[in-house]
Amino acid sequence: MEKWVYTFGAGLAEGGAGDVEKLGGKGANLAEMAGLGLPVPPGLTIIADACTHFYTHQRNFPDEMKTQVLDGIGGIEAITGRTFGDARNPLLLSVRSGARSSMPGMMDTVLNLGLNDETVQGLAHNAEDDRFAWDSYRRFIQMYSDVVLGLDHEIFEEILDDEKARFGHEFDTDMTAAEWQHVTRIYKQMIEDELGEPFPQDPQVQLWGAIGAVFSSWMNARAVTYRQLHNIPVHWGTAVNVQAMVFGNLGSTSATGVAFTRNPSTGEKELYGEFLVNAQGEDVVAGIRTPQSLTEAARLESGYDKPAMEKLMPEAFAEFLAICNRLETHYQDMQDVEFTIERGKLWMLQTRSGKRTTKAAMKIAVDMVAEGLISEDEAVSRIEPSSLDQLLHPTIDPRVAREVIGSGLPASPGAATGEIVFTAEDAVSAKEEGRKVILVRMETSPEDIHGMHAAEGVLTTRGGMTSHAAVVARGMGIPCVAGAGTMRVDFRNGALIGVGVQLKKGDIITIDGSSGQVLKGTVPMLQPELSGDFAQIMAWADKTRRMTVRTNADTPGDARAARSFGAEGIGLCRTEHMFFEGERIHVMREMILAEDETGRRAALDKLLPMQRSDFTELFSIMHGLPVTIRLLDPPLHEFLPKTEEEIAEVAAAMGMEPRALSQRVDALHEFNPMLGHRGCRLAISYPEIAEMQARAIFEAAIAAALETGEPVVPEIMVPLVGLRSELDYVKGVIDGVASEVMREGALEISYLVGTMIELPRAAIRAHVIAEAAEFFSFGTNDLTQTTFGMSRDDASAFIPTYQKKGIIERDPFISLDFDGVGELIRIAAERGRQTRPDMKLGICGEHGGDPTSIHFCEDVGLDYVSCSPFRVPIARLSAAQATIKQQRLARHA
Ligand code: ADP
Ligand code: MG
Ligand code: MG
Repeated sequence: MEKWVYTFGAGLAEGGAGDVEKLGGKGANLAEMAGLGLPVPPGLTIIADACTHFYTHQRNFPDEMKTQVLDGIGGIEAITGRTFGDARNPLLLSVRSGARSSMPGMMDTVLNLGLNDETVQGLAHNAEDDRFAWDSYRRFIQMYSDVVLGLDHEIFEEILDDEKARFGHEFDTDMTAAEWQHVTRIYKQMIEDELGEPFPQDPQVQLWGAIGAVFSSWMNARAVTYRQLHNIPVHWGTAVNVQAMVFGNLGSTSATGVAFTRNPSTGEKELYGEFLVNAQGEDVVAGIRTPQSLTEAARLESGYDKPAMEKLMPEAFAEFLAICNRLETHYQDMQDVEFTIERGKLWMLQTRSGKRTTKAAMKIAVDMVAEGLISEDEAVSRIEPSSLDQLLHPTIDPRVAREVIGSGLPASPGAATGEIVFTAEDAVSAKEEGRKVILVRMETSPEDIHGMHAAEGVLTTRGGMTSHAAVVARGMGIPCVAGAGTMRVDFRNGALIGVGVQLKKGDIITIDGSSGQVLKGTVPMLQPELSGDFAQIMAWADKTRRMTVRTNADTPGDARAARSFGAEGIGLCRTEHMFFEGERIHVMREMILAEDETGRRAALDKLLPMQRSDFTELFSIMHGLPVTIRLLDPPLHEFLPKTEEEIAEVAAAMGMEPRALSQRVDALHEFNPMLGHRGCRLAISYPEIAEMQARAIFEAAIAAALETGEPVVPEIMVPLVGLRSELDYVKGVIDGVASEVMREGALEISYLVGTMIELPRAAIRAHVIAEAAEFFSFGTNDLTQTTFGMSRDDASAFIPTYQKKGIIERDPFISLDFDGVGELIRIAAERGRQTRPDMKLGICGEHGGDPTSIHFCEDVGLDYVSCSPFRVPIARLSAAQATIKQQRLARHA
């Protein structure tokens, strides 16, 4: 018989943290905590496979599941001494979803299940608290109707608001037992009116209804969108947790709260969170009342007048603090926990690895190494490389005066400027038009996620540090100011009202997610400094990684930025970019359009000093580090004059008739320039171009070596080679110039000549090409184009369709196609090294900065990756993680 149900409670558990696939994250960790002997209300977990079964069997539960659930509930009854459905001593249950990876706010939970018109009396009697019982019942009706019966929760909130107002109360907590009972009656009547049948009174019906609803919520629109955004496969399904209720709404000695064991924003080692007295479930994050601080220190800092948990419930607090420490040591990570205090007794309801900002992740990892909790390698492995982008966020220049128009909580760091929009749809359409926006909402919900993705930052006027907006923005790495209570959104009139101002849609604001301030207009920003914990993690990464990290840089500015990000050389300098600048394009045009070699040489003579000074500067910035320079590559047409004006201008400069020049332009026209007269083909047709470039490189190398005192070893890269004879020819030209320049300069310098591997033929013939080539650099942009036969510039017309239809999963221009293009790289690396065992291999396509592609490069044994300057830190970290992964695999093998 298949085991569908796993139980936990009273110090025992059938599963544990290792069973996340089966039990889901929440279930596995509840079991783990129960097994550790921590106070966890007893419960059971229905495994995620049951959800899959549910969908493959016309939404029916597996046969044996029902009995197993009922047996499990029997166990809960035995531990709690209460009986499910019993009128006098009822056991109440929570039914909670819990998938393999946490999907915040995506699935729904039902609390207080088992209440009906009879059991509510028993609950009241047992607790000696009528108010509590009716409060719980009305909550149950609200949640069950929303989650299981599909009634809009706003209808209930409206009724509640009306009744509260009628009774003259401001807060839910002011309501009396009789008043709650009254509200319950109205709720039930409304449900019967809406649905044509009464609210289900039978606890068994409630139970199976709730379990079915959790399974069904796996397919609701929010969950589907979230899965798409986070690449979570549909076949995982969700587990269901059925657990004995504990009550935070049993008066002033009861409470419920959420906490992070360290500060998720800064990483500081301090308990961080909020709690609410006499409350249940999501009251804390829903922003109904302002939550209170956990620690006295946090209370003082926030200036709240209500006491912290530390003061109010010292015993429960001490136990809670001890449990938090224990959990951190046990999981060796910062935890995000939920807890409830029922009449002074602490209960743990959830734990998981806490989401954190990159800044916090760095600090926590570095601190945990110092605390002896984790190793340096583990610290390096824990930082998500792409999240380093977050650190590169600008901050507001502290020296400028700030025009503050409101403030809220500093919910996600960094500053951002943009136009105000009030809806997710407006954010998306503005982004499509290339405009930057700040999404301004009262609060956000999962329906706003696509709008948050499109926005530079998010501002909400309600909600706390653990509100939806705050959690999601931190995850996305975009700045967020949450709960700006001094501001108001007037949705109907499309206005944001702040201190002394009224702004409308389209007005510019700046939010500072690090201070919580909202400013008017655009504000000068500072670029971040990459020191402290960041530098420490990077130092550990650099110590570990096998591959070196170079940069793709065409200008001195790029090269300097890349050096400051830790680049260890230039892997690709595209010389054509140097020819587009300013006056140079004219000379370049003269050269291309020249009618004969003499004309071309005249133009090249003018280009030589410009190229030489470019290279000299690059070499001295790189100070002895390797620099790979690629000879001219682009299709000629990119340089041709297009407008009549341009033609006239060039013609005048060359002393030619515009008409004759126009004809020459036409003659150079190509039908398919990507596969036309480019790459080494140019150097073969016009060797004088390669001669000039080689001369510029060698003269610059000599000049820089003399200037810096460091030997410069230029690496000259010949593009788009398919035949060994092509490389032989161009190499001949380069070698000729080299000996000439060295003789003139009376200085020996060493240099390498190699090639890009960017054509399938080159990859396949790598062993032959390697006889001439001293290094290979994989140009994976072109190699992807030529392997797929897809032009990168035209691929956007069909790649998204391919992805939508499931033809391909990932865009091969962003993430390397391991099976096809990757196989060619493998072949070329292997065959190249057969011929030349110590040959240097690198990658210089866009993929050189993509974490998964970098793992592939490690696997193939490349010597270096090269990427754009801003991706250098990401590549350094990814390369280290790839090495650590290989070492771990080797240890397990
Ligand atoms: P989510 O995944 O949205 O956090 P949960 O299943 O954790 O949903 O539950 C929602 C809320 O209900 C949380 O605040 C949680 O602490 C509370 N809760 C869940 N189970 C119980 C229980 N057995 N007793 C009391 N409160 C509970
Ligand atoms: Mg929830
Ligand atoms: Mg939870």
